[in-house]
Amino acid sequence: MKKIAILGSTGSIGTQTLEVVETNGDIQVVALSARRNIKLLEQQIRAFHPQVAAVYEEKAAWELKEAVRDLDIRIVSGMDGLIEISTLPEAEILVTAIVGMIGIRPTVEAINAGKDIALANKETLVTAGHLIMPLAKERGVRILPVDSEHSAIFQSMNGEPRGGVEKILLTASGGPFRGKKREELMDVTVEDALKHPNWSMGQKITIDSATMVNKGLEVIEAKWLFGVDPSNIQVVIQPKSIIHSMVEYKDGAVIAQLGTPDMKLPIQYALYYPERRYLPGERLDFWSLREITFEKPDMENFLGLPLAYQALRAGGSMPTVFNAANERAVSRFLQKKIKFLDIYEMISDCMEHHKVVENPSLEEILLTEQATYERIESRW
Ligand code: NAD
Ligand code: MG
Repeated sequence: MKKIAILGSTGSIGTQTLEVVETNGDIQVVALSARRNIKLLEQQIRAFHPQVAAVYEEKAAWELKEAVRDLDIRIVSGMDGLIEISTLPEAEILVTAIVGMIGIRPTVEAINAGKDIALANKETLVTAGHLIMPLAKERGVRILPVDSEHSAIFQSMNGEPRGGVEKILLTASGGPFRGKKREELMDVTVEDALKHPNWSMGQKITIDSATMVNKGLEVIEAKWLFGVDPSNIQVVIQPKSIIHSMVEYKDGAVIAQLGTPDMKLPIQYALYYPERRYLPGERLDFWSLREITFEKPDMENFLGLPLAYQALRAGGSMPTVFNAANERAVSRFLQKKIKFLDIYEMISDCMEHHKVVENPSLEEILLTEQATYERIESRW
């Protein structure tokens, strides 16, 4: 039986991972974790019987401890708790379904402990890809992408020699505001931004999809995962999210992975790779689909993508600034403290005032994150 641990089991990816586990019936969940949603975590504990659960917030951890006193389970908390479940000797795969840069340290520790990583937490690779990828290679662990686009690229590269790749065609839906101009984006609300046309996801990534920052993060993620130069990563808008991404080869052949938008497919593929299992759900019906349309991304009104390319070109610690400023900005937007377009303002302001640290260590990445948060605190 395959044994897995999940960082962030109560979120969108976390709960869908558990659905995949449940339908297959041959994976053992040895550890679960959440930030503070102990109600759902308790249900998950009772259903999947992990040996440890981590709750980041101490007070919530205590409450959970009380609630599951009748069970044989250890409850841990804080960053130490997250690291403990990430390095648990029994687990073979760590699913990083946690949101934000908080995922970096547990992921690094899991790789050090020899765990394969089913990677959903894109913020980790965006900020620390230059450390994570070589470390994974050195430790002989696999980084299995869960993000649907990266899973599609991964699937499209199956069995192909790496030297044959010409470029990556990263598809994007364009989010709920596709086609809107700057003036129309000025007063959009949190509720509007949370209405993604195709995917139901956590709040942060849904806002990132509306700003196109998500696609920017994914370009950076793709660079590290597949070792492709950013100039060879082209974003293509494909509004219905049917083509999950494509790879163009030297001879002009384009290989793509298609499917209905369902995150359980990339999750299951990562958990069972290279095996393909039956997955219940809707299938593509090309007769009723009739057409798949494409557009160029709008780099004038949606600055998420150009800012990401700028961060990539600057390199070093700049993607950390891009990511950290965005995390703070999105959280303020969700709290209705700033407007939609202020997200871009905050990111560019922090990037403009950052002096790049080349090849940053983990510590320097975390310091850069902190400095970015402090700049936002002091100025906005
Ligand atoms: P979500 O907000 O639905 O869930 C986040 C999870 O992380 C929750 O379980 C939460 O408790 C946990 N968490 C947050 N902070 C924590 C902390 N300090 N300590 C412990 N746990 C903490 O987010 P999501 O949409 O599932 O996304 C998770 C990650 O996957 C993100 O990096 C996102 O970009 C990526 N991703 C998500 C999707 C999707 O369809 N939802 C698709 C591709 C990539
Ligand atoms: Mg994606």
